[in-house]
Amino acid sequence: MTRRRLIAGNWKMHKTPDETEAFIRALLGDDALSGNVDVLLFPPFTSLERAGRLVGETKIALGAQDAHPAPEGAFTGGVSCGMIAACGCSFLLVGHSERRTVFGESDELVHRKLRAALAADLRPVLCIGESLDEHEAGETRAKVTFQLAADLAGLTEEDIRHVVIAYEPIWAIGTGKTATPQAAQETIHLIRRTLASHFGEGVAGDLRILYGGSVKPKNAVSLLEQEDIDGALIGGASLSAESFAQIIALAG
Ligand code: PEP
Repeated sequence: MTRRRLIAGNWKMHKTPDETEAFIRALLGDDALSGNVDVLLFPPFTSLERAGRLVGETKIALGAQDAHPAPEGAFTGGVSCGMIAACGCSFLLVGHSERRTVFGESDELVHRKLRAALAADLRPVLCIGESLDEHEAGETRAKVTFQLAADLAGLTEEDIRHVVIAYEPIWAIGTGKTATPQAAQETIHLIRRTLASHFGEGVAGDLRILYGGSVKPKNAVSLLEQEDIDGALIGGASLSAESFAQIIALAG
């Protein structure tokens, strides 16, 4: 089956509601959105409601960058998947390397958040990838296969159909260093083969796997033309509507 490309922007801790509105209005007015590519934004929590009202039934889908795994309760500062869905989100970012390293999230917590997303009808975008030390020690394969097994443990074939995977080598995030297209393709192919062994060839062939790590307009094409790379998760270059739209146009 042909997998539709997905271009996703992770804004991290950037943009107020007004800045979010200006970005979305600019993107909605750009021809790039008329192409055959799915577009997804992950604004901060405080911008989700405004963003949800603006994107409505347009081509832009919304997701949150994090959620608490419980549906509700005494978790000061927590935000549940149901609250996120009520703002118009259909996706949830889980396991981003900044959540894992800066906030100390374990694979067990990533797994619980992923399950909470599925229970609330949000589509998880699961981020996996190796650190610089692991990369240099030749441990990329071991790391991503371990994360897949731990984070996706016990999911059914139906569950996995709602998941998107983002392969993000940690050493390439926000550093300006990008995996070569061949190396990214090799690891993403390995991820697809691993998913095939857990969930079957059909599901693995349909599942979208993104590359993330310093994707810019100038390197997007060489990455996106790789057979197993179905799109990109973009941090820095998603903060400008112009560069984000350029990448969407290049993917279309
Ligand atoms: C990210 O935050 O997921 C990311 C890939 O960031 P950047 O594009 O800035 O490397």
